[in-house]
Amino acid sequence: MAWVKSPTSVLRDIGISQPHEIDLDFIAYTLNAEVIYEPLQGYEANIFGSKDKAVITVNSGTQVSRQRFSLAHEIGHWTNDRGKNLSIECSTGDINQKQNGKGLTAHQAREARANVFASHLMMPEFMMVDIANMPVNMDTVRLIASTYNTSLVSSAGRLIELTKKPAMVALWSHNGNRRWFDRSTSLSDSVWPLQSIPHPHQAFIESNNTIVSDSKWIDPRSAKGEPLTESVFDNGFDVISLLSWP
Ligand SMILES: [Zn+2]
Repeated sequence: MAWVKSPTSVLRDIGISQPHEIDLDFIAYTLNAEVIYEPLQGYEANIFGSKDKAVITVNSGTQVSRQRFSLAHEIGHWTNDRGKNLSIECSTGDINQKQNGKGLTAHQAREARANVFASHLMMPEFMMVDIANMPVNMDTVRLIASTYNTSLVSSAGRLIELTKKPAMVALWSHNGNRRWFDRSTSLSDSVWPLQSIPHPHQAFIESNNTIVSDSKWIDPRSAKGEPLTESVFDNGFDVISLLSWP
């Protein structure tokens, strides 16, 4: 990804090298951005900035992990979308905007980039080299979430980006429709998850390291009837399945 300033260089400029040092309020402060927490109607966060100074407001009415992600997202706007008069209000849809959709509008692409920035600022690859060979399951997701103070969903997404194993993460609505998915780099592009899960109440049972047939999650055109390891969790909004191939 082309950065004006990468998350890694933001961290390195301040001398941050350990997970517990990733204090987002402090990082914003060093970048000349004041951070305010207050209730916002209809937005997760916003940023208003001039050439070298900004004010970021984060909605205080959401979960702390969401507030942290929103702040990191706004730091992404501040470091990468800075112009003469920066004024951006970010909705829940913006904070959830993924990169892998085709035909993104300029607005969506900017929001997706701020989300990648946020994820990499909070979970920097240079601190996570061990993760690449760890099992793709809930134990590793929880380890990332507790080490980096991140949500289980964003930790699961980062695990799939960093693992060397063939693996996938998919996000489903409670009625079984697929909302988003991502493959690890070693999983073939020809493997597609189902568009919707036929019996979500039976499929969406929390699990960790459970062997199932790939046909439970994978489209019949790319399923081989072979075993994979699933880990399933529900964060109250969506159901997330982590799939790992032997
Ligand atoms: Zn935004």
